[in-house]
Amino acid sequence: MKTAHWADFYAEKIKKEKGPKDLYTVASGITPSGTVHIGNFREVISVDLVARALKDSGEKVRFIYSWDNYDVFRKVPKNMPEQELLTTYLRQAITRVPDTRSHKTSYARANEIEFEKYLPIVGINPEFIDQSKQYTNSIYASQIKFALNHKKELSEALNEYRTSKLEDNWYPISIFCTKCNRDTTTVKNYDNHYSVEYSCECGNQESIDIRTTWAIKLLWRIDWPMRWKYENVDFEPAGKDHHSSGGSFDTSKNIVKIFQGSPPVTFQYDFISIKGRGGKISSSSGDVISLKDVLEVYTPEVTRFLFAATKPNTEFSISFDLDVIKIYEDYDKFERIYYGVEDIKEEKKRSFKRIYELSQPYMPSKRIPYQIGFRHLSVICQIFENNINKILNYLKNVQDDQKDKLINKIKCAINWIRDFAPEDFKFSLRSKFDNIETLKENYKKAINELLNFLKKNFEVATEQDIQNEIYKIARENNIEPALFFKQIYKILINKEKGPKLAGFIKIIGIDRFEKIVSEYIKP
Ligand SMILES: [Zn+2]
Repeated sequence: MKTAHWADFYAEKIKKEKGPKDLYTVASGITPSGTVHIGNFREVISVDLVARALKDSGEKVRFIYSWDNYDVFRKVPKNMPEQELLTTYLRQAITRVPDTRSHKTSYARANEIEFEKYLPIVGINPEFIDQSKQYTNSIYASQIKFALNHKKELSEALNEYRTSKLEDNWYPISIFCTKCNRDTTTVKNYDNHYSVEYSCECGNQESIDIRTTWAIKLLWRIDWPMRWKYENVDFEPAGKDHHSSGGSFDTSKNIVKIFQGSPPVTFQYDFISIKGRGGKISSSSGDVISLKDVLEVYTPEVTRFLFAATKPNTEFSISFDLDVIKIYEDYDKFERIYYGVEDIKEEKKRSFKRIYELSQPYMPSKRIPYQIGFRHLSVICQIFENNINKILNYLKNVQDDQKDKLINKIKCAINWIRDFAPEDFKFSLRSKFDNIETLKENYKKAINELLNFLKKNFEVATEQDIQNEIYKIARENNIEPALFFKQIYKILINKEKGPKLAGFIKIIGIDRFEKIVSEYIKP
């Protein structure tokens, strides 16, 4: 069978390179030293898509996500309160740094929680591994001993890509001082068994036992390949920074061999840029965009679609501007093809259906979800003043099993209009009538005629009929049609333009239309 999607291609590659296995392990991970942003999310969803492809081909899969939270707090983030307090935690493990936004948990954990909360919404449920717990509970004691016993091979492997070679007193570990908790330490001696001696800038000097200490960790360039072996990782993608020649992926490939393991299948995923957010900065995350921010404007399935429909080694933008409308339209087309209500060429169809399937956070629904164009929906939301019940009521024929997804889409439309839509897109129906302008007699007469036409024909008239009638009435009353349109918009929404008028009047409904225009045609 020819593969339909890049995730299927990689699933096949993993099976071919790693051979038959009872369980395949796919991995992702990051240091939570700041808000986990949408670029980091690209790695997680890439792994999720490959995991699904493996599962769909009949394999069992374990998806692990490592929080590399035993890293050092190197820099105080600018958007954090209590900068001075935070400065006192520099060089300590990020799990020890308080989250000065809430003081409820650590800085690292706060960043983790924020991300973990939103992943299940997009259907991603990995097994989280807390690296600081692994280290402080001495889980990797024998790996640390192994690394210390093989420090010569390890330094040679690293030196292969280094211009300045590592010195003889180099060790593959770093140590947090047990007195001051900082990593401002130097390894003095290792007895080739379990005892490591170190000194710290604070004056502390002592010996610690690898088997019981919480203070030792492997250097990151050693730790990563060590875990490939420890967790039997079969697949792990990485960003451009790790995949550069001589970068951490290259050195890890050599180092994992020293640990008697083999490197995972991988690919490089590219950066993501953000388009059309203007000056809007997320309050929670400083100047980066998180998954939460994306979910404000894109439903979970469309969020997945952005990634599932793009090859991982292509750079792309997540747009918050008018492109949002087009992206929803594209998604709707994939949906119609998936459910067989729209047809395309056979060879394309399979690929479209696969992308749609992989875009679903969970199982695709039996019935096609309720379809409504995002542009149209954003007009409806404004007419009904963002009242979800009124919107659902207006839409009619929404089945119970279609409601959840539709409500999500409505909420996204409301958020988009409020925060990102261009000014021309925004309006509210007139509700105040003090100080309204007095119309010329021919305009009054024309609007009266339009009202009468609509009252008689509202149910049966198509948008085209209404459009034609507006032109006809304008000409009969010696009004330039463009000016007549402008006048009607001014009356309805106090703007010179708005959504396509005939359709707009249809959505407003004859009663509300009459209520507004009557104020202008009173004798
Ligand atoms: Zn110290």
